[in-house]
Amino acid sequence: MTRHPETIFVLTGAGVSAESGLGTFRDRGGIWARFDPMKLATPEAYAADPDTVLDFYDHRRRGVIAAEPNAAHVALAQAEARLAGRGGRLFLCTQNVDDLHERAGSQAVTHMHGELLKARCCACGTVTPWRADLTRADACPACGAEGRMRPDVVWFGEMPMHLDAIEAALAEADLFVAVGTSGAVYPAAGYVRQARALGIPTCEINLEPCDNADAFDAARYGPASEALPRYLADLGL
Ligand SMILES: [Zn+2]
Repeated sequence: MTRHPETIFVLTGAGVSAESGLGTFRDRGGIWARFDPMKLATPEAYAADPDTVLDFYDHRRRGVIAAEPNAAHVALAQAEARLAGRGGRLFLCTQNVDDLHERAGSQAVTHMHGELLKARCCACGTVTPWRADLTRADACPACGAEGRMRPDVVWFGEMPMHLDAIEAALAEADLFVAVGTSGAVYPAAGYVRQARALGIPTCEINLEPCDNADAFDAARYGPASEALPRYLADLGL
């Protein structure tokens, strides 16, 4: 009988949400391709022109609220439940700032680049669920400061979130799977080499080979909504 992995670390990226219609800066010819991320997704951009930055995130937030999870999100939520049912664990680490994993039913999602449906007060640090547009007229529900709320997402030049928990989960895993990630954004792009250094088998699931495809032991190519459910089924999940 094949021994199935019981502790799986899954890293998801933009490719998983792209099939739900959510684009990124990196899509060639995509809706964000004509924008300069350095003018929209940095602390400096927010300091220099908060209205433009907030408008940009308002637009993206509305897109997230209108989007629906796809078969890749659903398959991961089912795999999490099935693994938990037999005493295992699926650690889901995502680079995505949308809530599609949660809406598909995933119980524990680690958002290393933050969450678009939350806002953070720059004055007191309180993070609040936030579905409406965000303007400089908004006051922090905790401290009352006005004009200090920003999307709770990680901007270029900022430190990703939950790195200690992510590293600990990686060290405990017996399989590392990266889905829909470009392999270009660190530290996430380095996790495959860390996994291999720990002796953990690694698999990439992507539309096309990622920038560090040679670092993976195995690969499945195709849309995440098709390749990922097939792969998880092969694992007995
Ligand atoms: Zn505050």
